[in-house]
Amino acid sequence: MSALGDEIKATIAHGGPITVERFMELALTHPDLGYYMNRDPFGAQGDFTTAPEISQMYGELLGLWAAEVWSSMGRPNPVRLIELGPGRGTLMSDALRAARIVPEFRAALDVTLIETSPTLANIQYEALLTSGAPIAWRAALSEAPDGPAIILANEFLDALPVRQFVRRSGRWRERTVRLDGRGQLAFGLSSDPEPHIKVEADEGATLEVNAVGHRFMFELGARLVKQGGAALFVDYGHSATGFGDTLQAVHAHRMVGPLVDPGEADITAHVDFAAMARSARATGAAVYGPIDQGDFLRALGIEVRARALAERAPPERGDEFERARRRLVGKGAGEMGALFKAMVVANRAVPPPPGFQPYPAR
Ligand code: SAH
Repeated sequence: MSALGDEIKATIAHGGPITVERFMELALTHPDLGYYMNRDPFGAQGDFTTAPEISQMYGELLGLWAAEVWSSMGRPNPVRLIELGPGRGTLMSDALRAARIVPEFRAALDVTLIETSPTLANIQYEALLTSGAPIAWRAALSEAPDGPAIILANEFLDALPVRQFVRRSGRWRERTVRLDGRGQLAFGLSSDPEPHIKVEADEGATLEVNAVGHRFMFELGARLVKQGGAALFVDYGHSATGFGDTLQAVHAHRMVGPLVDPGEADITAHVDFAAMARSARATGAAVYGPIDQGDFLRALGIEVRARALAERAPPERGDEFERARRRLVGKGAGEMGALFKAMVVANRAVPPPPGFQPYPAR
């Protein structure tokens, strides 16, 4: 068992079972032993690959999206460009390069990266050394500077810890992590039913509640309503609230049991976009989408970009861009276009952002 697994076992032996939420929080962001805290998990050598790591086109298109949103906001100067959970810094690096074609936007930019992992913050620093933009790092959105903001978040919400409840004999009980008879980590249920959840469901159903995500949406929505701007979330998830256990752990590109080696595998839950949208709307912010990632990137012109890059590339790299384009927008098995969704939360003064505009009437 991993060092973090041993520490969690000792905690449970001493204080009793912990919630799935607490387990996920420790597994990902324990200050010394959490999964993100001391490694680079991305890419072929790592545990998983994300859209910005698949192709430069992704960050470039999001950079141009940000420039257009800035223009529709009345071109505030300065404007805060904030990224949540920037991973290797690849998205921001590609976005800032692409944004050079709008020099006034580049000149107005003040960049803040929100990151909990010191290891990843160092990798981001290296990736952005030559970007030419002023960049600061903060541990939470509340620490970012005030003012109109454009916020980007790719695979951020799925890393927030979720609570899980299981329907037993007409009541909801919170799912926990406990020790079994052999002293191993095992799932359990709290002895006291949860009194506040009124939803009905069949025996055995699982309900996931991203309480941390809801609090985050309240904070983000309130900021955008008060100070202006828009936030783009792209993530693995579903558009309508439903039942089901979506907790999953990935190590070296393979699924593993979430309790097997905490701290050694990435643990995520699907994002319930409808639930996140409800909390954002409750602050008075407007919500656009969610729409399929594939439709979003197509509306931003990924086809044209892929062709332009292929034409300029040496022949041996010729089909690389077409392959990446298909992986990002395709809706078949193993492709991201329909599994991933894009959603925007914005101040009501901001017009519908690119990709989310209603199609013209025919
Ligand atoms: N956006 C990147 C990385 C996604 S992985 C990409 O698409 O490649 C999730 C990222 O969120 C990591 O950088 C992780 O360290 C960070 N993270 C996880 N929980 C966080 C939290 N509560 N606050 C800020 N960053 C967090």
